[in-house]
Amino acid sequence: MSSLDHDLRQRLESLRQEGLYRELRCVSSAQGPRIEIGGRSFLNCSSNDYLGLACEPALREAAAEAAARYGAGAGSSRLICGSIQPHHDLEDALAAFKGVEAAISFSSGYAAALGAIGAIAGHGDVVILDKLSHACLIDAAKLCGARLRVFKHNDVAGLERILRQENQRGGAGARPRILVVTESIFSMDGDHAPLREIAELKDQHGAWLMVDEAHGTGLYGANRRGLAEELGVSDRIEVQMGTLGKAFGAAGGYICGSRTLVEYLVNRARSFIFSTAPVPASAAAAAAGIRFVQSGAGEIRRKQLWANVAALPARLAPPRAIPGAIIPLRVGDESAAVETAALLRERGVFIPAVRYPTVPRGTARLRLTLTAAHTAEDLRQLQSALDAIGFSPQLPNR
Ligand SMILES: *Cc1c(COP(=O)(O)O)cnc(C)c1O
Repeated sequence: MSSLDHDLRQRLESLRQEGLYRELRCVSSAQGPRIEIGGRSFLNCSSNDYLGLACEPALREAAAEAAARYGAGAGSSRLICGSIQPHHDLEDALAAFKGVEAAISFSSGYAAALGAIGAIAGHGDVVILDKLSHACLIDAAKLCGARLRVFKHNDVAGLERILRQENQRGGAGARPRILVVTESIFSMDGDHAPLREIAELKDQHGAWLMVDEAHGTGLYGANRRGLAEELGVSDRIEVQMGTLGKAFGAAGGYICGSRTLVEYLVNRARSFIFSTAPVPASAAAAAAGIRFVQSGAGEIRRKQLWANVAALPARLAPPRAIPGAIIPLRVGDESAAVETAALLRERGVFIPAVRYPTVPRGTARLRLTLTAAHTAEDLRQLQSALDAIGFSPQLPNR
């Protein structure tokens, strides 16, 4: 065994001992409320395909047509010769959907965060993050070279303190560039950010705001643009980010806002410039997902999703001011969460345990998500499996 492998073996062993070991499970079916793993069918309660679009015929057909017409591969990065029509169509559709001047698509939401934050902020600047921000926002903030400040989850007073401190640091005349970054609907807790208060503060303190709507786009607001629309603050967010891989049912990420922002990112976002463009099928599927979300059929799916969420007992899903499809079933201990997930699997229910570093240590959970594709029978099966193992979620202690 090489010395590297020897070293890595030891590290893997300690991950196992801490209940933090992860492994892939090969899914041999298409995505949906039922998935097949190892020849067995499971009720899937862990997908971000909130509207059940991943297998929707309109998206499959759009992907197939784009592959037939433009090929399987994209050939190069967008700035070399890979900026094919489907990418432009997708970005036009995105900008129109979001009601903004322009949009730019990336190969993933992760790449969008890395590209955008890295282009906007650097040495001498400040990035201020909500403590529970997604790993891609944290990584981007760390990599960009700016000073990184973190406020307690959704703690508006804490954010204000940091804004004041950072503005005073440089003394008069030397105001730093400050970028405040948060999610709208938090990916592992399903709660929402106080976007109105945050927007108010960043304006008062001359900062810019970036909001990751990975779990908001397609689901909230009169035009389904996201939580920012629902809360009436879209116009005050300089950098709107999201993914094409959740409610839109495809894959990829985006940043949208002003034409100037997009023009700048084309020039400076390294994850955009130095990466092969997404395949034509992916862009076309995402554009079809956006069209579906805006259609009457999309509205029916959304109603179904919220009806499914409302059908869960309050014991599992305490009522929220803003309904959410992400329902954390808290266990606490990492190994206990893994064991709970295994017990549910024995009963045919698939909800992986989410542990550190995805969530803070000691807050391991089963991250239950519902989609529009779940049926009443699915929800009954979920509840009877949870009852059979005697599960009751811990209350959050934050
Ligand atoms: C999933 C997710 C991302 C990453 O998007 P991908 O397209 O999957 O790379 C970014 N932010 C949040 C909050 C997410 O949940």
